[in-house]
Amino acid sequence: MTIQPSPAVIILGQNSLPIAQKITSLLPGSIIYGLTNRTSNVDRNYTNFGDTLRELFAQGTPIIGICAAGILIRTLAPMLSNKRQEPPVLAVAEDGSAVVPLLGGLNGVNDFARQIATGLNVKAAITTTGDVRFGMVLENPPPGYSLANPEYAKSFTSEMLAGTKVKLEGNAPWLSNSNLPIDANGKLSILITEKSIPSTPDRMVYHPRTLAIAIDDTTQFTTDELITLIQQQLAAANLATAAIAGIFAPNSVADDIRIHAIAKSLAIPARFLSQNQLDVFLAQGYSTTQATVLTAVGADGRLILSSPVMEIAMSASQPIDPNIGKPQGKLAIIGIGPGASQWMSPQVKQILAEATDLVGYKTYLDLVGILGGGKQRHESDNREELARARAALDLAATGKYVAVVSSGDPGIYAMAAAVFEALDCEPKPEWNSVEIQVAPGISAMQAASAAIGAPLGHDFSVISLSDILKSWSIIEQRITTAAQGDFAIAFYNPVSKERTWQLTAARDILLRYRNPNTPVVLARNLGRMGEKVKVITLEQLAPEQADMRTVILIGSSKTRIIPRPHGKVWVYTPRRYDEDA
Ligand code: SAH
Repeated sequence: MTIQPSPAVIILGQNSLPIAQKITSLLPGSIIYGLTNRTSNVDRNYTNFGDTLRELFAQGTPIIGICAAGILIRTLAPMLSNKRQEPPVLAVAEDGSAVVPLLGGLNGVNDFARQIATGLNVKAAITTTGDVRFGMVLENPPPGYSLANPEYAKSFTSEMLAGTKVKLEGNAPWLSNSNLPIDANGKLSILITEKSIPSTPDRMVYHPRTLAIAIDDTTQFTTDELITLIQQQLAAANLATAAIAGIFAPNSVADDIRIHAIAKSLAIPARFLSQNQLDVFLAQGYSTTQATVLTAVGADGRLILSSPVMEIAMSASQPIDPNIGKPQGKLAIIGIGPGASQWMSPQVKQILAEATDLVGYKTYLDLVGILGGGKQRHESDNREELARARAALDLAATGKYVAVVSSGDPGIYAMAAAVFEALDCEPKPEWNSVEIQVAPGISAMQAASAAIGAPLGHDFSVISLSDILKSWSIIEQRITTAAQGDFAIAFYNPVSKERTWQLTAARDILLRYRNPNTPVVLARNLGRMGEKVKVITLEQLAPEQADMRTVILIGSSKTRIIPRPHGKVWVYTPRRYDEDA
């Protein structure tokens, strides 16, 4: 399930900071984004207003712009295609005198507006007629309820606005306490029920999420069979699928893919309960499956459908809060590319949007920029990779969605190997339930190659010059072998403050096998501030020309230079390996 991102309060200048801070105090967890060089003391900086706004909008982030409504409208106009999916967007005047809900009517924008306006002692500029009159929007019930027939909500609201009364059947305080024209003899009706009911225009049907399902994990049925069985059981009892609050299971089976597939197929959360939680009912002689659903539905619930394959229980009054259990922990080891967000894959961006926690070196977490907004950050020193991997696994095992952030590709001199090393060498039982995923990124050598042409166009090898984790003799041997094989070579970690002589030593080995005029590409800060790509010859290569933010590409004997205007060049290695050339 996607987690709703924290609201973003966006300011363009320092004068707007006081009102932004007031709003964040009214909406705990919200984050202030300020334009770089125009604002200070903000939570996050951004450089491009349009891109930032559209990125946040696409992620479903509620947006509060301290700016003219028109700027927000024009910026977001190209993205307005689906009103059911758009997040709340509001404009607030810099002096706090006006709060204007603009978009996201079906996702609670008016509630945001009222909340902010109340805190600022002004009236929210709510223009939705139904909302103004009734203090609520039929299509936007609170968590725990779903509207079975939203297609009729608009005409139903119009009827109420025209004076028709509504009969309320069933129990839902948010409806009985609203300003709806409720009357026991109403011609229209609103029904709150778990039952599956045919849809008609004069009756709104809300299903309270009061059902909990658990499957027996020893059963041999496949996912599809289980889904069919659930649907048959519900249909036989005339219960709506939308009344299911979740599928529940003990923590120990959190990695059972059938549970997740069922949850996805029925669009319900999968939640896992600890042994302690289950013990109460187990002690009374219930089976694990029964104890699971009974724990989920709470004290006033009861088993309603029992079978050897699954149990369904129903809470007597309130919808079930699925967060009585925790979600399966997830660990995504992601590569954000060398720096800029245009080199980040959509998959990585999506993981960043959904993750609850980010783990990584501070520089990388900062590079993630606005995409990392509203997440718990766990910064650590770059050198403690194994400790960081273990901590990330521990965190994920508590039900968090942890993204371990690497620069470039996570599998190239980065965190993915560290995580697998932790899993392999010091496994902990609780890590077994964590879903692990590696999401690739563009590595520094690819970005360097693209910046200058195609120097890695033929066979190449990749060597890290860092002798912290391996001895220099091995590095020496690998450079020699790569040089003998006439591979183009990418050097990572070429030089650091403490390690300077290694690059000279590497060059001297190469010069034994390669022409002194061999093209060498020095690429520094790719995709980041201060990006610089320079071409020199092998003979000129010296430690002063590189640092820890430089990747170096050494040409093979076939690598060529093409001059371009203004003293620039392209470098490429032909794909045809012509032995005589
Ligand atoms: N996983 C990373 C590599 C991490 S090792 C990747 O796939 O790119 C760190 C080394 O990567 C640095 O010493 C440097 O050689 C290279 N590097 C990482 N980011 C870089 C960037 N933005 N510009 C140039 N080199 C970079």
